[in-house]
Amino acid sequence: MSNTMKAAVLHRVGEALSIEQVPIPVPGRGEVLIKVVACGVCHSDLHAIDGDWSELPLLPLIPGHEITGHVVAQGEGVQQPAIGEAVGVPWMYSACGTCEYCLAGMETICAHRESTGYSQPGGYAEYMLAPAAFVARIPDGVDLYAMAPILCAGVTTYRGLMRSRARPGQWVAVLGIGGLGHVAVQYAKAMGFRVVAVDVSADKLELARSLGAERLINAREEPVQAIKEQLGGVHAALVTAVANAAFEQAVGMLRPGGTAVFIGLPGGDADTVRASISAISGWELTITGSNIGTRQDLNEAVAFAARGQVTAQIVTEPLEAINQIFERMRKGQLVGRTVLKIA
Ligand code: NAD
Ligand code: ZN
Ligand code: ZN
Repeated sequence: MSNTMKAAVLHRVGEALSIEQVPIPVPGRGEVLIKVVACGVCHSDLHAIDGDWSELPLLPLIPGHEITGHVVAQGEGVQQPAIGEAVGVPWMYSACGTCEYCLAGMETICAHRESTGYSQPGGYAEYMLAPAAFVARIPDGVDLYAMAPILCAGVTTYRGLMRSRARPGQWVAVLGIGGLGHVAVQYAKAMGFRVVAVDVSADKLELARSLGAERLINAREEPVQAIKEQLGGVHAALVTAVANAAFEQAVGMLRPGGTAVFIGLPGGDADTVRASISAISGWELTITGSNIGTRQDLNEAVAFAARGQVTAQIVTEPLEAINQIFERMRKGQLVGRTVLKIA
């Protein structure tokens, strides 16, 4: 094995990634070296390279946090996962394990967590490191390309649906049928919910219909709030759209007692919403956020996919296509999830 690898590297926020040869990292104590098979392209990677969020990524950066691959080397003290085992690496690279949130099973809000492909090098590369304690184990015989999006889109929407506290048989709206939203529709179905899909593009809505959404709303053509007259509103609304308007629409779609779960992260000027205090108070609405998922959420999200109840609709592309993929993502032209085929 040579000691360099191919990677897509961001040198300055707002610039294109460059494909380069960089050193293969060496696993330290508690770490594993992973040979990457696939890495999904999440909209969070585009936010990272565009510098959309107040906290900027660490540069130079290898993005990518929807990773599947195989363990090829173990650092000192690592027994599991074993060499040769299939693993996945999510956005949550690590958490401290000792703060009040980690202890309470809420490692997703640990203040000391590190983020894959943001504060630590990610999966737009042939190899990467990850802490052994935070990688997901992927069952044998699973398609690692189709599994990659579960590492972010899957776990994030699965946790978001659980945080909505919707019950089987209830209506859940998914606003934004992109990489996250199209798996959210499937988790919602698998969890027994009835789905209203909202997007601004007909092909995304058609995908949602094929995945089991019962009602489709094109927010560009019809008032989203009409669902209040039709169904009395939805019990929960999951916002995975990147557009600010969708967050306000989600609250407006809720039936009394309903919950809106904010997941999309438009950032910048689009980071603030207006909501009616009297509606929230008088109808006991809940607005909550959901941030990726815990390791347990991830194991559960992977299990749904491994059983075939959730299957990401993927298009595979080579690493070299990354800048064109981002161009298409900016224009909202990607349907399903685009996955980099690294190996
Ligand atoms: P994507 O680009 O694949 O999908 C976005 C979708 O939103 C597209 O289908 C687009 O057509 C749709 N959309 C655009 N405007 C809309 C509108 N006004 N109403 C309804 N739909 C609209 O993006 P993705 O990879 O699915 O990521 C979505 C967002 O979720 C990003 O902001 C990403 O950073 C964020 N995210 C958050 C977390 C978290 O833990 N909170 C995790 C992963 C991703
Ligand atoms: Zn992501
Ligand atoms: Zn912690």
